[in-house]
Amino acid sequence: MSYRPVISNMKEASSNEQSGLYEFILDLADGTVCRVFYSRYPEWKMTNISRLQKTPCPVCRKDFICKCIESYKGELTQQIEENQWIDKALAAAK
Ligand SMILES: [Zn+2]
Repeated sequence: MSYRPVISNMKEASSNEQSGLYEFILDLADGTVCRVFYSRYPEWKMTNISRLQKTPCPVCRKDFICKCIESYKGELTQQIEENQWIDKALAAAK
């Protein structure tokens, strides 16, 4: 089974500009919602990702905590870079 997450939206949830730490909410096309943390310095880097338990996990179908989405960190990071989601999220938050 291969799951391929597709980001449909990303929005800023909180930020600390001084320390460069940002929290974003990531909406996936299948309804999955994730929380991602980024560290801005020296360059944008995803430090943590977890699924919000609003819908069952798209991978293992559990509706409680699991770590499946962590294995898609690379895939999601790539989509965020390609579609400039961070820039869009920060612009929308202003
Ligand atoms: Zn899971």
